[in-house]
Amino acid sequence: MTRVRFNGITKTYGSVRAIDNISVSMHSGAFTTILGPSGSGKTTILSLIAGIIEPTSGTIEVGERDITHLPASERNTGLVFQSYALFPHMTIFDNIAFPLRIRKASATEIKRRVGEVLTQVRLEGFADRKPHQLSGGQQQRVALARAIVFKPDILLLDEPLAALDRNLREEVRIEIRALQHSLGITTVLVTHDQEEAMSLSDHVVLMSHGRIEQVGTPDELYHRPATRFAAGFLGTANFLEGTWRDGAIHSERGEIFPSHGKALSPGARVTGMLRPDEVRLAAGPGVLEGRIVDVDFLGEVVRYTLSTAQGQELRAHVTGQHARHREGAQVHLTWDPDRVWLLPDSLEAKGEAADDPAADRAEHLHPAKERITQ
Ligand code: ADP
Ligand code: MG
Repeated sequence: MTRVRFNGITKTYGSVRAIDNISVSMHSGAFTTILGPSGSGKTTILSLIAGIIEPTSGTIEVGERDITHLPASERNTGLVFQSYALFPHMTIFDNIAFPLRIRKASATEIKRRVGEVLTQVRLEGFADRKPHQLSGGQQQRVALARAIVFKPDILLLDEPLAALDRNLREEVRIEIRALQHSLGITTVLVTHDQEEAMSLSDHVVLMSHGRIEQVGTPDELYHRPATRFAAGFLGTANFLEGTWRDGAIHSERGEIFPSHGKALSPGARVTGMLRPDEVRLAAGPGVLEGRIVDVDFLGEVVRYTLSTAQGQELRAHVTGQHARHREGAQVHLTWDPDRVWLLPDSLEAKGEAADDPAADRAEHLHPAKERITQ
């Protein structure tokens, strides 16, 4: 068992609280991503797991063992950073062999293991090259090979794709995912890129200012964000703010946004979140009218920015569309009211939360129509 557990961890640097009393588990054999903006404490979390730094307070466990004060050299963690940090004058073979040599492995063992991991990262035949003879993506795969060659208990990846251009990023991302699946190694990745987090992770820990904003699967964070910050960080979001009554959220400006209203009493203030891919442009009468102010054609998807007559901006992402709408066009908008997610933080702030927030959130995915208070 290599579950990593933080119990009330705080890390301060002078007056800066890099990590502010967090408790979280990173599951054994799973892929966990620490996601958050720059300065939110992500690298500090990895450094705490690796033993590069010690917490100011709180304890860290791996499995059932308290490792809070265990030296880094005894933690058996593999690390990959943004910059490949390969030794430039050593061959690929020697770079990968390095951690094994430190551990005094035999020459036969080294040859066997380096050969194995070179195959795993699909770089057979590159053993005798020097790092500068490889592409950035290949170099990062060497760094990955070096991090797993000694069979670490935990693999730690700090923005491993950040220095790569788009195509290479995708290549290495696929590599990392395949490797993690085949090895089943407990992996913790740090990134500020939500797309990367969504594509790689079993679980995402969303950080903001040294605190945990939300923990969940990519699906939960995307469809059921706990806060406005989470909704905005995990993709584009339309925020429908106002007072709930008669099956809709009524904005102060006068827009009427159809929404379900489970657990709301008439007159309650609420913020609904609607993903742009839930908004459809309709030929006939919709639920709202809007004028197209921007068309962003990306091939697979067209991203429209619209404005209501009252001036609220709305986003609609439409796929598989042949006839594109033009800028300036007046269009009808429609969506399924059940797809509006009522942001729990907007409810809790006003004391409108249901007794059991978890049950309430689950309800939103399969809203029980008969329970909707209208
Ligand atoms: P992230 O990786 O999410 O960008 P970090 O974990 O590197 O964030 O940093 C979190 C906060 O702690 C930041 O405000 C950063 O400036 C501060 N910090 C990190 N390391 C140090 C350090 N060695 N000394 C002082 N402040 C630090
Ligand atoms: Mg960092």
